[in-house]
Amino acid sequence: MKRIVILGGGTGGTMTANRLRRRYGADEAEIHVVDRDDRHVYQPGLLFVPFGLADPDKLVRSRRAQLRDGIAFHESEVERVSLDEDEVVLASGETLPYDVLVIASGTVLQPEETDGLVWSETVHTFYELERAVALRDALARFEGGRIVVDIVDLPIKCPVAPIEFAFLADWWLRGRGLRDRSEIVLATPLDGCFTKPIAAEHLSYLLAEKRIELETEFSAGEVDDSRLVSYDGRALPFDLLVAVPLHGGAPYVARSPGLGDALGFVLTDPHTLQARATPNVFALGDATDLPTSKAGSAVHFQGELLVENVARFLAGREPEAAYDGHVNCFIETGFGKALLIDFNYDLEPVPGHYPAAVGLPLLRESRLDHLGKLAFQWLYWHALLPGRELPGIGPTMPRAGKRIPAGATPGKATGKAGATT
Ligand SMILES: Cc1cc2nc3c(=O)[nH]c(=O)nc-3n(C[C@H](O)[C@H](O)[C@H](O)COP(=O)(O)OP(=O)(O)OC[C@H]3O[C@@H](n4cnc5c(N)ncnc54)[C@H](O)[C@@H]3O)c2cc1C
Repeated sequence: MKRIVILGGGTGGTMTANRLRRRYGADEAEIHVVDRDDRHVYQPGLLFVPFGLADPDKLVRSRRAQLRDGIAFHESEVERVSLDEDEVVLASGETLPYDVLVIASGTVLQPEETDGLVWSETVHTFYELERAVALRDALARFEGGRIVVDIVDLPIKCPVAPIEFAFLADWWLRGRGLRDRSEIVLATPLDGCFTKPIAAEHLSYLLAEKRIELETEFSAGEVDDSRLVSYDGRALPFDLLVAVPLHGGAPYVARSPGLGDALGFVLTDPHTLQARATPNVFALGDATDLPTSKAGSAVHFQGELLVENVARFLAGREPEAAYDGHVNCFIETGFGKALLIDFNYDLEPVPGHYPAAVGLPLLRESRLDHLGKLAFQWLYWHALLPGRELPGIGPTMPRAGKRIPAGATPGKATGKAGATT
């Protein structure tokens, strides 16, 4: 009997536990999932809450209820991992020994790392449910003025979400007759709205068309009264600040020597998803230092291979080095449209169709992609989390259907771990 412990009962942890339970009978493996609470939030829905497009109550379900029968759920904070002892110590005092450990504990938001970044009547984020609801109420009171959307630093989860927020803010203000009395500024530490040239060109065109100002190479240093001030002294006055705070890994990673990098992200082999520290630990999703986007779609593509490699490890076989960095994201652009990007470590987002020549348009605003984004919520609860296969959607990035121009660059992030946008 093998013992598999999974840290985190979010997207990656739930999906992995369910896939492993399907693969192994109750007499072959014990499966344990640890999470600090029993509230599973559908995070892509947070983008829609401030604009009244999603009901906050409908985004939350019990974590326990998403797990198949025969999976033990432990509701506790993780205190630390002892790699030498092959055990996890929980804040509840319980110790969980393991043969295989899977780390899926995501990220933590760290607003306290930016001076003066304190949530208030005018300073908000939509990256947490309660804050997204507070932002919805602030927007309802908004009578025009300057909205600054700021990415404090990378990596962040769903790196396109702040761009989507700016697009939706434009749509929302127009609908209320407030657009002519308002400015929208998107401030980013990057040198453009996007790291990859082809997608950056498309998105920059849309930002300009919607009169959204782009403030580049802006490294937010402090919030000073009603101004956001960068380290190089530039000040952005605001009436409403929507900040995406600094992200770090779960604090227990730093308390577990050898597991993570300086930001608390788990050092992970980009192709096998094995932790660099030791072969019986695997990691996926936002918790890792993988140089691809921190997104639910990436977690889904990683999950299939991770389960295969856990099985290989338990059978004494070599892991498959097959994850190619595949990720895709629907970018909501407002007015019932969205565009889709699909890329991997080797290829930046390019135009065409996904997953094949007949499919969803890539890098082109369409109603179909908007419907795809909305459909994702149903797929999330009913196919992704239960660990079901999606017909025609494989973990490896498809090239059929893509128009790949000569000189297209790799999709992999450069500079900062996981900083792909
Ligand atoms: C606003 C927003 C919009 C998004 N939009 C999209 C989108 O359109 N498409 C897309 O693909 N992705 C999107 N994402 C990103 C996606 O939601 C995440 O990438 C995905 O959920 C990551 O899954 P995960 O399993 O790695 O982490 P999570 O799902 O966050 O799970 C981590 C779990 O670990 C638990 N945990 C952490 N530390 C501890 C501890 N010490 N003890 C116990 N438990 C702990 C947490 O409670 C949490 O349940 C969006 C995210 C946000 C915030």
